[in-house]
Amino acid sequence: MSIQTVGIIGAGTMGNGIAQACAVSGLNVVMVDISDAAVQRGLATVAGSLDRLIKKEKISATDKDAALARIQGSTSYDELKKAQIVIEAATENHELKVKILKQVDALLAPEVILASNTSSISITQLGAVTSRADRFIGMHFFNPVPMMALVEIIRGLQTSDATHDAVKALAQALGKSPITVKNAPGFVVNRILVPMINEAFFVLSEGLATAEDIDAGMKLGCNQPIGPLALADMIGLDVCLAVMQVYLDEYGDSKYRPCPLLKEMVAAGRLGRKTGHGVYSY
Ligand code: NAD
Repeated sequence: MSIQTVGIIGAGTMGNGIAQACAVSGLNVVMVDISDAAVQRGLATVAGSLDRLIKKEKISATDKDAALARIQGSTSYDELKKAQIVIEAATENHELKVKILKQVDALLAPEVILASNTSSISITQLGAVTSRADRFIGMHFFNPVPMMALVEIIRGLQTSDATHDAVKALAQALGKSPITVKNAPGFVVNRILVPMINEAFFVLSEGLATAEDIDAGMKLGCNQPIGPLALADMIGLDVCLAVMQVYLDEYGDSKYRPCPLLKEMVAAGRLGRKTGHGVYSY
């Protein structure tokens, strides 16, 4: 099955980024959200992002117009019937995703692939609530989607080889470099990244070095573009703590215990950039 039209559920940070990546690569997009305001915000974000690419001379004004013309915004799930694959990128909430997937599953032709961009919910579990577990898969893009080359392709227990191969080909057609991952909490990148951030909090709490020196060490010694503590402030300390708690619960291994300093900072409301104060002050 050749993919000409991609359906996207959710016009937020990830949804509009995926829409842009698809449209720039010549695919038609139907992007659905719950309110017209959300759809319009998503479309405006894509337009702004394309404008920045024009300024950097990466695309022309004609390319921008052509890409925008390929994206149809809508508040009606019915419009998703035009798509050969639908990528769910709605708010990270298990019950909400189950509701959306059941609704869309009932609407789509049997051969259509359903994918989820979830960061933390089991792909096997989500696939099981649909009538197409073999055509259900995780397609985990990274933020900001137009800039980031990686897509983790997550195979649920029942995902078929044909579905995997079609989604891998789609990711490559978008200019991305996909990796294939079995379903498990954190997939690959966050499974390694978040415990590393947690370890940086242990190092800080043990007084081994200052926050600035820990971050400088990881930047200069490991070629990381940003230190782990500054990254925690960007992600949100509450998000980092919640992810560690999921790993501890799911894997039952004490190596995932959240650092007490991380817990203390979250309890104090020091959540990072979004509250103006985390490890650093903003
Ligand atoms: P967001 O809050 O920016 O956008 C979510 C959008 O979903 C909102 O516009 C909301 O109105 C819409 N929505 C809610 N209910 C809906 C419904 N019933 N039907 C259609 N749309 C609905 O969130 P986001 O950061 O774009 O995250 C979306 C998904 O991507 C989540 O599963 C998240 O875990 C995942 N993700 C996020 C990131 C990131 O860095 N933000 C990275 C990778 C994956």
